[in-house]
Amino acid sequence: MDGFHTEEQQGFRQTARRFAREKLQAGYLKRAACHSMDRALIKEMGALGLIGVDLSEEYGGLGASSLTAGLIMEEIAYGDFNMSYVQLLASLMGGMVAKYAAPDIAREWIPQIVAGDRIVALGLTEPRGGSDAANLQLRAEKSGNGWRLNGEKTSISFSTQADAAVVFARTGDPAGGSRGVSAFFVDLRSQGITRTHLDDIGTRPVGRGSIFFDDVHVAADCLMAEQDRAFGTIMAGFDYSRALIGLECVGPAQASVDETWAYVQERHAFGAPIVQYEGVSFPLAEAETQLTMMRQLCYHTLSLRDARRHHTAEAAMCKWYVPKVTCEIIHQCLLLHGHFAYTTSLPFHQRYNDLLGLQIGDGTAQIQKLVIAREKVGRVALQYSRQKTPAK
Ligand SMILES: Cc1cc2nc3c(=O)[nH]c(=O)nc-3n(C[C@H](O)[C@H](O)[C@H](O)COP(=O)(O)OP(=O)(O)OC[C@H]3O[C@@H](n4cnc5c(N)ncnc54)[C@H](O)[C@@H]3O)c2cc1C
Repeated sequence: MDGFHTEEQQGFRQTARRFAREKLQAGYLKRAACHSMDRALIKEMGALGLIGVDLSEEYGGLGASSLTAGLIMEEIAYGDFNMSYVQLLASLMGGMVAKYAAPDIAREWIPQIVAGDRIVALGLTEPRGGSDAANLQLRAEKSGNGWRLNGEKTSISFSTQADAAVVFARTGDPAGGSRGVSAFFVDLRSQGITRTHLDDIGTRPVGRGSIFFDDVHVAADCLMAEQDRAFGTIMAGFDYSRALIGLECVGPAQASVDETWAYVQERHAFGAPIVQYEGVSFPLAEAETQLTMMRQLCYHTLSLRDARRHHTAEAAMCKWYVPKVTCEIIHQCLLLHGHFAYTTSLPFHQRYNDLLGLQIGDGTAQIQKLVIAREKVGRVALQYSRQKTPAK
C-alpha cells in the first residue's frame, strides 16, 4: 500500500508508527483513565514533527499534505486514540487560525500548537443543540475597540485544558441562522471565563465540558474571517476534520483486529485453535475488508482536498460510516476474546467507548447523510431541517 505514497509520507508514517507502538500503546489504558492529557508526551510528539504537519511553513508547520496528516493520525490512533485527538485539533484549528485569524495571532499561536505546547479548542455547540449549529445564541457585542462575549458553549473537547478557543458567536439578528454569526479567537485565560468538565464514558483524558463567558472582553483583531459571515466560510474546514476522524477510527480498529488474529491462533477450543472455525475467522476477514475500504475512502477524500477538489460528500461519508463500522469491528474483537475481554484490563471496551464519541462529535450520522443528500440533489434534501444548512 505504501507504494502509493511519497517518500515523505512514508517517512512520517514510519516515525508515527514507531512512536505509537513503542511509546504510546503500552500506556494507553492507564492514560485513558486520567482526566487530563500527558503534556510531556504531547511535547514529545511535537518534537518528532507529528503535530500539525500540514500547517503552513510560514507559521512553523511543515507544509505537508492533508494525506500526510491523515497517515500520521491513523498511526498515532493505533497506539492511543486520545493522543491522536491533539493532532486532529492541531490540523483543524491550526488551519482555521492560519487562514482566518490576524497574522499576529497566527504567528504567536501556531508554532506553539505544532510544538505541542498549546491546544486550541473548537467552541461551537451550545446547550440548545449541536446539529442545528448555526442557530446559536452566545452573544458578541461591540465594546470600545473590541467585543464582549456572553453565553455558554457546551460539549467542548479539551474544555478545561485548552489554552484558547475559536468561539462562534452571534453578532447579528438572533433569528438570522448562519447569517449574523462571527468567529473569535479567545485566549481562555481571559477574565470572565469559567469551565466545567463532564464525566464521559470515553476519551477521558481529552475531556469535554462547558465554557461560560461572562462579559469576556476580546480585542478587535480577535475577530476571524468576515463579521456575520464566519459560519459558512469557516465550516468548510470540517470537510477536512471528517476525513481525519475516519482515519482516527481506523487506527484503533486495526489494532483490535491485529490483536485478535494473534489471540485466535493461540486460543484452543474443541481440540483446535479457534481460528480454524469460520465463525471466528470470517468476522475478522470481513473486518479486514471493511478496514481496507474505509481507509481508501479516507485517503481518497484527503487526496481530493490536496488536489483542491470538492470533497464535501466524501468527507461526510467518512464521518458517518467509519466511526460506526469501526465500533462494530471492535465489538466483534471483544467477543472473540471471550470472557477475558469483559474486564478493564484488555483495551477493547475502552477503544469502543472512545470511538463511540465520534459517532456524535463533529456531527451525527443523520446530519452527515443530510449533507450527502444535499450534495446529490441540492437544498430540496433539507426540507425537514427548515431549509437550513446542516453544518455539523
Ligand atoms: C466526544 C464529543 C466531542 C465533541 N467535541 C466538540 C467540540 O470540541 N466542540 C463543539 O463545538 N462541539 C463538540 N461536540 C458536540 C457535537 O458536535 C454535538 O454533540 C453534535 O453536533 C450533536 O449535537 P447534539 O448533541 O446537541 O444533538 P442534537 O442536535 O440535539 O440531536 C439529537 C439527535 O437528533 C438527531 N437530529 C437532529 N436534527 C436532525 C435532523 N434534521 N434530521 C435527522 N436527525 C436529526 C441527531 O442526529 C441526534 O441523533 C462533541 C460531542 C461529542 C460527543
